[in-house]
Amino acid sequence: MGMMRQYELVDRVRSYNPNTDEDLLNRAYVYAMRAHGTQKRASGDPFFAHPLEVAAILTDLKLDDATIVAAVLHDTVEDTAATLEEIESMFGPEIRRLVDGLTKIKKLDLVSKKAAQGENFRKLLLAIVDDVRVLLVKLADRLHNMRTLHFVPPEKRLRIAEETAEIYAPLAGRMGMQELREELEELAFRHIKSEAHATITKRLEEVTEREGQVISAIEIDLKEKLSARGIHAEVAGRRKRPYSIWRKMERKSVSFEQLSDIFGFRVIVDTIDDCYRVLGIVHTTWPMVPGRYKDYISTPKQNDYRSIHTTVVGPGHSRVELQIRTDTMDRIAEYGIAAHAHYKDGRTTELTQFADESRAYQWLRRTVDLLAEGDSPEEFLEHTKLELFHDQVFCFTPKGRLIALPRGATPIDFAYAVHTDVGNTAVGAKINGRIAPLLTELQNGDEVEITRAEGQAPPAAWESLVVTGKARAAIRRATRTAVRRQYAGLGRQILERAFSRAERPFTDDKLKAALKRLARTAVDDVLAAVGRGEMFSGDVVKAVYPDLEPEKRGGAGDPKAASNGKGWFELRKGDNLKFKLPGETPGANAIPIRGLGGDLPVRFAPDGGAVPGDRIVGILTPGEGVTIYPIQSPSLAAFDNEPDRWLDVRWDLDDKVPQRFPARIALNSINEPGSLAQITTTIAEHDGNIDAVAMNRPNPDFTNVTIDLTVWDLKHLSAIISELREKRVISRVERVVG
Ligand code: MN
Repeated sequence: MGMMRQYELVDRVRSYNPNTDEDLLNRAYVYAMRAHGTQKRASGDPFFAHPLEVAAILTDLKLDDATIVAAVLHDTVEDTAATLEEIESMFGPEIRRLVDGLTKIKKLDLVSKKAAQGENFRKLLLAIVDDVRVLLVKLADRLHNMRTLHFVPPEKRLRIAEETAEIYAPLAGRMGMQELREELEELAFRHIKSEAHATITKRLEEVTEREGQVISAIEIDLKEKLSARGIHAEVAGRRKRPYSIWRKMERKSVSFEQLSDIFGFRVIVDTIDDCYRVLGIVHTTWPMVPGRYKDYISTPKQNDYRSIHTTVVGPGHSRVELQIRTDTMDRIAEYGIAAHAHYKDGRTTELTQFADESRAYQWLRRTVDLLAEGDSPEEFLEHTKLELFHDQVFCFTPKGRLIALPRGATPIDFAYAVHTDVGNTAVGAKINGRIAPLLTELQNGDEVEITRAEGQAPPAAWESLVVTGKARAAIRRATRTAVRRQYAGLGRQILERAFSRAERPFTDDKLKAALKRLARTAVDDVLAAVGRGEMFSGDVVKAVYPDLEPEKRGGAGDPKAASNGKGWFELRKGDNLKFKLPGETPGANAIPIRGLGGDLPVRFAPDGGAVPGDRIVGILTPGEGVTIYPIQSPSLAAFDNEPDRWLDVRWDLDDKVPQRFPARIALNSINEPGSLAQITTTIAEHDGNIDAVAMNRPNPDFTNVTIDLTVWDLKHLSAIISELREKRVISRVERVVG
């Protein structure tokens, strides 16, 4: 096959568009030829023959210059040294946009696709392309590749053919391009079911040989009858394609012998009126087959297809299908969307009026409607979904699985869409091979790889950052599980110490045996209930060891706890003496407190906090976990009558994860300009973080300032306080313990 010459391309376009920009076409021809250079196709032909053939297919559809040029250039950016910038500088922004769209789609070809994803993939295509001309070039590209598929290595053929059948042929159909659809289907069928294709083709030839004369008899007969009535008509007989015969055999479970209507006629007339006149003549000449008459003229299909269909029994009892329509209807049936782009009298078309925003919008709307065309109610429902596809993004896993997400979705949503476990353990993401924040907004076609770390729990804050319901529900669930695990962990620590004080062994099995008495169904339920402060450790000890003497109430942290009722304290094994004997180091039996975000539900005294170095006590607060107070905290008096809530706790800091802790200071400052600034600067200079500042002014000379800040420990806090005391504007500084 000889390669199309430069002048031939121009001639083809000029034949339907006298105003074509010849210079533009010529420059594109030369540019693409040079770019592809000596590249060869699988057939051994120069590669450049391919974009030219694609352009030729589009000239058959009579498309505008920009589309033809984009077809000529469509493989340059992906396969050669050409760049989009260069294309824009040489051919302008419109052609750059078209080539860019084609390059994006081409990248998707590299991704393996599963058949079941066909519908999603079509939506992806539609979401990526914002100009229907990109799809037209893509379909022409695919058509040429399918026509030359036999040159491609066999192992690749099947995948390309399946992709064509799954994605591109239906897309052509939805765009109303029946001819293109049928050819794509036919070519795909040849490779996917080669045996069936060969058998049907052979039988078709036999039948044609046997009954072919019937066809010409009908054709002649019909033409005569029509001209006798003064109807101007083109009558073209055609044999059905193997694919449509095979599909009918599959659908109706019939053998080839039972298939009768393998011949068809198309009758093209000038007016709608003529269509019905032809129908009348056909039905009075040959008997019609009941149930086969369809009038798509009075009720067009949603993709604009209009025609009358009927089947009659011709000579020799052959069934013959007839399609009767006008010239315009025929063009729309063949070219679909492209038909709307046809040049009319050399004037500009809808497609070239994209500059006009409102028309462009209408055109796109219409395209969406056309693409939403469907015969079944499901497809009709699909319409509403398709309207939304611009609100969606379609991304890939590294293995090529397609994930559809709402617009605005992040890698976190993506991770949860892949699998809940992937979402729960996600710690990072790579987008198109590059490390990206988990909160990046995903774009169409992004390939997303999630980095995971086992044993992770999703931060609760993610819940408000994700856009998919699935991710939100999973995060909520995982957070709840993590919180429950914290409570159970705390409950276990409390119980271990309570049993130890009672000098009785504590095991899960023993606890299990007492579940009934505790009215719980699982050990974890008991642990969590104790951790939450809903169940007292003493009651659990009693339930496990009913024979045990009633335990004296109270945990070790309560100065009154060890009271034996005789007015003096009795020390028991495991008791922490730190509250009784100042200077005593905390006992090993105390619950270790690491700080916030650890594995226990911990918070610090709301009015004044607590910092490492403080001697501390924990108060179990239902629904809150443990609240840590410095032992000197006046608030503790409120819990005097609830000894069960007191917990013996000790600091247990992780040097590898330095943490700040909350504290409060109160100071008195002289009212002069810049005094507050001096205070805050001093704190900042000494590495204190200010969380809140409250002020009141009891008299014109002084301001009382209360500052909530976070520090590393007591030493750090003391250092800040003494620095503040040095300031002239400050008359008094002290720590506040709430
Ligand atoms: Mn190509």
